[in-house]
Amino acid sequence: METKDLEPKVLDAFSSQLKGELITPQSDRYDMFRRVYNAMIDKRPAMIVRCENVADILYSLEFGKTHDIPIAIRSGGHNAAGLGIADHGIVIDLGLMNGIQVDLKFNTVRVEAGCLLGDIDHALAPFGKAFPTGIFSTTGISGLTLGGGFGHLSRAYGLTIDSLLEADIILADGRLITTDHHNFPDLFWAIRGGGGNFGIVTSYLFELHPAGKIHGGPMLWPIEEARHIMPFYRDYILKAPKEIYCYFAFLTVPPVSIFPEHLHLKKMCGLIWCNLGSTIKSNQALEHFRNFKTPVLDYVDFMDYYHLQSLFDALYPSGLQWYWKGAFIKDLDKDAITKNIAFAKLLPTPHSTVHFYPINGACHDKKNGDTAWGNRDANWSQVIVGVDPDPTNNNKITHWAKSYWEAIHPYSLGGGYINFMMDEGQDQIKASYRDNYDKLQKIKQKYDPKNLFRINQNIEP
Ligand SMILES: Cc1cc2nc3c(=O)[nH]c(=O)nc-3n(C[C@H](O)[C@H](O)[C@H](O)COP(=O)(O)OP(=O)(O)OC[C@H]3O[C@@H](n4cnc5c(N)ncnc54)[C@H](O)[C@@H]3O)c2cc1C
Repeated sequence: METKDLEPKVLDAFSSQLKGELITPQSDRYDMFRRVYNAMIDKRPAMIVRCENVADILYSLEFGKTHDIPIAIRSGGHNAAGLGIADHGIVIDLGLMNGIQVDLKFNTVRVEAGCLLGDIDHALAPFGKAFPTGIFSTTGISGLTLGGGFGHLSRAYGLTIDSLLEADIILADGRLITTDHHNFPDLFWAIRGGGGNFGIVTSYLFELHPAGKIHGGPMLWPIEEARHIMPFYRDYILKAPKEIYCYFAFLTVPPVSIFPEHLHLKKMCGLIWCNLGSTIKSNQALEHFRNFKTPVLDYVDFMDYYHLQSLFDALYPSGLQWYWKGAFIKDLDKDAITKNIAFAKLLPTPHSTVHFYPINGACHDKKNGDTAWGNRDANWSQVIVGVDPDPTNNNKITHWAKSYWEAIHPYSLGGGYINFMMDEGQDQIKASYRDNYDKLQKIKQKYDPKNLFRINQNIEP
């Protein structure tokens, strides 16, 4: 569908229904609004609706259905595969819907679907509260939550979906409903990990947890030390107290002034910490590693959780080229470690990186079948990230990420986090949901039999 295929009076009538703005290819700001975080994505939608309220979403959904236009839903626009936007589609853009209501009486926060993580962290910071989300404040809460969500607080409090109490959602038939453990419980099960397959979420209610001052930041060693640090880290984090969190990373030190010049552009391995609770326990954890091998960079300090959440934003601004792949890892045996280090030494560009996010601790309090997120038995969610500002390096970063992933695939549980996927296709989506896929498919048949919501890691009805 192109907007030129629609009569001007049809578009005018649609536009006049909206409180928000209708952007078409004829609009001056079309190129600005069709952009997403990953600059490798270059899609040309038929129109973008910058919704201001639920009514705008309902009118847009109806318009898309009436004119048979593919429907894409964009909240934070951070999805690396670009699934918040579609060629020839109508983009229902929720970015302006970013209201937040903190309720200290019930220890909850209601969050509109267009919020970025930074909006939420900012609103909660004065109260020293949070719930687990991701590690970059520029990510959207919607795509992250619907895919499962994890970050610095996940060993303490679980996945993002484990703090989700209810969601308001517009179904394919146009109904606006509230789903929770008691109302539409099958749908509530499905949206906790099943992505944007089941409707358009307009707001979420989350439970809050204590997260004021934390002990956090990076600790780095030369990549040559990874053969010692990685197994030491593995053994430690599998048994660590829940309030201790650190993810393992391979990275290149950015050539910026906050890092010592002699380390600039050196390949490293490291831990990024976020310890809650007792300072004594946190110090014990840090000393455990410092005594094992002295880090060449040690920036771990007391800070507000809010501060840690945006610490790395500036290193990865919007507009870089991204290609990434994910894997769920249960065991990191000697062979797996050797393979990882071999590929990490080949990090193709300074922005490219590899992270192992621990998803044990409180994430293991639930079982694989309790929510749609079917990988509770994994200990890490690994992401292999090829990034560079220069599009001429796209083949280089893509080839490295793919061959790294192939090499470690035998050591994984088969699938990967759907929010760390590109366009791997149906087999990999099924492998990622494992035993939960059949149930997800039945729920999809019930709520979206015509697959109206298909611009996502799609569960085919
Ligand atoms: C730099 C970076 C860091 C990241 N760090 C983490 C991390 O620490 N932890 C983690 O878990 N993930 C992380 N992610 C992955 C992130 O969870 C996904 O990219 C996620 O899709 C982003 O959500 P969004 O709303 O910004 O995406 P969008 O591009 O807006 O949307 C992505 C998908 O979600 C669906 N969707 C969006 N909004 C709605 C809605 N309101 N209703 C229904 N469906 C909707 C869309 O259909 C689309 O398929 C990171 C991503 C990046 C780029």
